[in-house]
Amino acid sequence: MAIAGQQVTVLGAGVGGLAAALALSQRGADVTVLEQADAIREIGAGLQISPNGTCVLRALGLGAELDAASMRAQAVELRDGQDGDLILRLDLARLRPKQGYHLLHRADLIDLLAKAARAAGVQIRLLQKVENVDLSGPRPRLTTAQGGESTPSFLIGADGLHSRTRAALNGKTAPFFTRHVAWRCVIPAEAEAAPVAEVHMGPGRHLVSYPLRGGTLRNIVAVEERSAWVEESWSLRDDPIEMKLAFAAFGPRVQGWLEQAQDVYVWGLFRHPVASVWAKTLAEGAAAILGDAAHPTLPFLAQGASMALEDAWLLADRLAKLPVADALAAYQSARAPRCARIVAAANGNAKVYHLSGLQRSIAHTALRLGGLIAPNLALKRFDWLYDFDVTQS
Ligand SMILES: Cc1cc2nc3c(=O)[nH]c(=O)nc-3n(C[C@H](O)[C@H](O)[C@H](O)COP(=O)(O)OP(=O)(O)OC[C@H]3O[C@@H](n4cnc5c(N)ncnc54)[C@H](O)[C@@H]3O)c2cc1C
Repeated sequence: MAIAGQQVTVLGAGVGGLAAALALSQRGADVTVLEQADAIREIGAGLQISPNGTCVLRALGLGAELDAASMRAQAVELRDGQDGDLILRLDLARLRPKQGYHLLHRADLIDLLAKAARAAGVQIRLLQKVENVDLSGPRPRLTTAQGGESTPSFLIGADGLHSRTRAALNGKTAPFFTRHVAWRCVIPAEAEAAPVAEVHMGPGRHLVSYPLRGGTLRNIVAVEERSAWVEESWSLRDDPIEMKLAFAAFGPRVQGWLEQAQDVYVWGLFRHPVASVWAKTLAEGAAAILGDAAHPTLPFLAQGASMALEDAWLLADRLAKLPVADALAAYQSARAPRCARIVAAANGNAKVYHLSGLQRSIAHTALRLGGLIAPNLALKRFDWLYDFDVTQS
């Protein structure tokens, strides 16, 4: 299908939806984005965008904006949570230096994508909460909370974790609570904070922190294993004392950060299957899903936003080059195996971070020795992930 001139509705002005809207608009499509929020404003905290995601932003023409809004990460450091000792340092600066591994505020990424999309002619309509997506007719049919209906010819469901479009394609699935909760907050950063992502690991819990916005802010995500159920939501506040208590046994560096935590959000970590059906061709239209709508992931590999960027690029590229049914088949067959592998790798990381007792001592010693003998090997294991450029595929 030559996408040029086609009307496309994107549901959701998150990272994936805005990137897809921009990519499609750059290929000549007439794109409208529907977003439930009343403004594109500062919600969320830090995101890590690895080279497989930054290559998409650069190919979209946003390299300068990305460099201005973000910090280029030098390293990931795995540390012992209790004494703060360094266990392993992974040198990120060597990873595809032209693309870079970037740390930035979610609000800044959303802002730069939204500005570029609007400049490319995309219409972003706010306060459009879609209650129902029906894919049983000749065209996708959307019903909003206010009762408005629309029947776009092409629908892209970029509507996140609780996607209505995913449910219309796959039926309802039941994610399960992983018995992990995560707190997130942003605090003022200490002077000259190095652009390093620190992972402080302890039995049954870990805490990730890195600076944002030129080193003025510090992002914190703290994960604890816990049996009490917590909602899967990005906007649930919690008392900072809960997070402080959970990390009371951690060292002074972490304690110093947590002392400053004020606005704290908590979310329950749920495991969802990767969607079986990513797209459908209808008599007079089609629908597809991307990003968290297709493959929600646990945050333990920091790939949610980068995967959504990869999806957005590939979907737009294939729609511009192929007839619609072929484009959608090519999209799912290229994306589903890679996303399933990433989601599985993220699931595995929780176990490594949260070890206790003898297993913990053995694993930490092995990591330390590995870092001394072959410092680049630990990162090399992830070449399949970071050393991939969807814009060249
Ligand atoms: C408010 C918010 C805060 C977040 N904060 C963080 C964070 O701090 N750290 C982190 O790592 N990840 C965060 N994430 C998740 C991260 O942005 C995503 O995992 C990743 O970027 C993949 O993006 P996505 O576009 O698939 O989904 P998302 O970025 O989740 O975007 C989905 C969009 O769809 C909209 N939407 C959903 N349902 C409807 C509907 N029925 N009608 C209309 N619009 C709808 C949502 O409002 C949202 O704007 C956050 C997501 C959200 C929505």
